[in-house]
Amino acid sequence: MQRKAELEDLHWKLDLLGSIEVGIVVINRQFEVQIWNEFMHHHSGIVPSQIRDKSVLEFFPEIDRDWFKQKTDPVFKLKSPAFVIWEQRPYLFKFASYRPVTSATEIMYQNITLFPLASLSGEVEHLCVVVYDVTDEVVSKQRLAAANEKLQMMSRVDGLTGLFNRRYWEECCQLEFKRCQRNQGSSSLMILDIDHFKKINDTCGHPAGDQVIRSLAQIIKQTVRETDIAGRYGGEEFTIVLPDTDAHNARQVAERVRQRAESAVVTHEGREIRFTISLGVSQFSASFKDHMTWVEHADQGLYQAKESGRNRTVLR
Ligand code: GH3
Ligand code: MG
Ligand code: MG
Repeated sequence: MQRKAELEDLHWKLDLLGSIEVGIVVINRQFEVQIWNEFMHHHSGIVPSQIRDKSVLEFFPEIDRDWFKQKTDPVFKLKSPAFVIWEQRPYLFKFASYRPVTSATEIMYQNITLFPLASLSGEVEHLCVVVYDVTDEVVSKQRLAAANEKLQMMSRVDGLTGLFNRRYWEECCQLEFKRCQRNQGSSSLMILDIDHFKKINDTCGHPAGDQVIRSLAQIIKQTVRETDIAGRYGGEEFTIVLPDTDAHNARQVAERVRQRAESAVVTHEGREIRFTISLGVSQFSASFKDHMTWVEHADQGLYQAKESGRNRTVLR
């Protein structure tokens, strides 16, 4: 009678192991598999009779022996559980993930728990590896991170031109200003503005004006270095921080932008539009109170460029 009850008990336990949506593997000190549940069978294609009494490392070469030993030793010795989360190691067993909808990942991400299994005498001769499939969680976490990154990017970038917006550009400018103060750096700041832009808007229309602004932004992107920080400061006004660039070199960059703008032809609804720009350049000076003083200096250069006939660069 009692034996029947024991058998029933065992039967239920095995049934439970089979239906549960986590992987359960019992191994001994030699890492030989004693129990391999349905989840493990399903995802590995290895049936329990195939792997029973064989080292789990034989079947899964992706498990590094030294690492695994280092991880399981304390479980045997201290009789306390150990954990491996996917951030440390994406998986223990390399399984494909079957997710037609969330096919963002090909592998199954896993969290792993290693439980000590004490025998009746209290010795720990076995441990239970529990494998949790956390792929959905990881995928949604990664999607969220990507969305956040995109949002952050959008909050920094001007919609019309793809250059930094004024708020973010000023943040960068301030950082560069502080960096120059610390290192006595020779960085420069450039400010530029389209000449007689009102006329372009008036004669060709606002959308044509927008097209000119976009073209100029494109010229700026193609002319400055990747490490230069270019932003749209206002309507048709742009600012660029050129780190580690002295006034002489900054002026050369400014002249290149100016010449390229001068020779650019913007086509809008079949109409060809030409335009010029004026520029002010200022090299960092330790006498500047803050980054806005630096901007004002460059702006004075721009003002002089406008005053003295436009389509030119003035150094301040
Ligand atoms: P100046 O040579 O002295 O710079 O003459 P300007 O006509 O360009 O004068 P100003 O720089 O003051 O004019 C800026 C004009 O740009 C005024 C405004 O209507 C126009 N503007 C500002 N933002 C935009 C925009 O996003 N798109 C378009 N199409 N026009 C804009
Ligand atoms: Mg203008
Ligand atoms: Mg302007």
